[in-house]
Amino acid sequence: MTQAKILDGNAVAADVRTLLTERVTALRESGGPIPGLAVVLVGDDPASQVYVRNKNRRAQEVGMASFEYLLPASTAELELLALVERLNLDRAVHGILVQLPLPKHIDAQKVLESIHPAKDVDGFHPFNVGRLVTGGKAQIPCTPLGCLLMLKRHLGSLAGQRAIVLGRSTIVGKPMAQLLLRESATVTIAHSKTRDLAGECRRADIVVAAVGQPEMVRGDWIRPGATVIDVGINRVPAAEAGKTRLVGDVAFDEAVAVAGAITPVPGGVGPMTIAMLLHNALEACCRQHDLPFEDLV
Ligand code: NDP
Repeated sequence: MTQAKILDGNAVAADVRTLLTERVTALRESGGPIPGLAVVLVGDDPASQVYVRNKNRRAQEVGMASFEYLLPASTAELELLALVERLNLDRAVHGILVQLPLPKHIDAQKVLESIHPAKDVDGFHPFNVGRLVTGGKAQIPCTPLGCLLMLKRHLGSLAGQRAIVLGRSTIVGKPMAQLLLRESATVTIAHSKTRDLAGECRRADIVVAAVGQPEMVRGDWIRPGATVIDVGINRVPAAEAGKTRLVGDVAFDEAVAVAGAITPVPGGVGPMTIAMLLHNALEACCRQHDLPFEDLV
């Protein structure tokens, strides 16, 4: 039985960080700016705390300045907006990330739209969303950008490839579909109202699964030789009582026997998200200082 190539996100993310470290070092040694990333967390959600800590640690590892703002869950929307405004004006800060989800009393969209588009390293501001659609220079959401890098590293050109994106969220599905379109793939976007999801999937050379449904995509949904990118991160009960394990949106054990290449969970798309955040922070810094920036993707 053939076995798909495993696309190792840890390895690709490590390559990206090495390259970014070289570029940040070169920038500093030439008397240029030190890229600065500000991460804002409101509340004490344990998963968000881990993400924020990892983002700061990784930023420091590549030589960036990182600024952490940990605010209590009771923070008023106005206070948060005032902090974002201060960071917008701070010349040492080139990228601003407000960790989602925000407490219910805060309008997340309003906060995201208050970040200056040039510092919007998550790529969620309508200005950057619009630029992605219209083809201008944009900050691109980190997870889909990481998926695209993995796809291009494996396949080279995506032109003419039939791609399906399962999921239409603003964070993953929609920007992923736009990126694939930008690469001249023929793109289908599927969601919870799509009829015959399995049949749609079977036609695709590239499957990007971002539905948040554990192991929904079965092996017989995959066209033999297709490339499968599994964005899903789902915690499910493990065989051992009381324990849990992480699975993706794709039934890995089935799909690996059919696909040409596949990302595992964990160790696939997950590590790419922070690597691409650092990429976006360096890009933001270079653009704010009118310095050249060579895209990695
Ligand atoms: P959302 O819940 O925002 O969106 C899920 C999408 O999947 C929706 O468009 C929904 O359709 C669709 N969907 C849900 N159930 C089905 C179904 N049964 N059949 C077809 N479509 C379905 O999720 P996100 O996009 O934020 O995240 C998706 C997954 O990716 C999650 O597991 C999340 O944890 C993971 N993730 C991983 C990241 C990483 O770093 N690796 C980063 C971000 C997310 P509809 O619109 O019709 O409701």
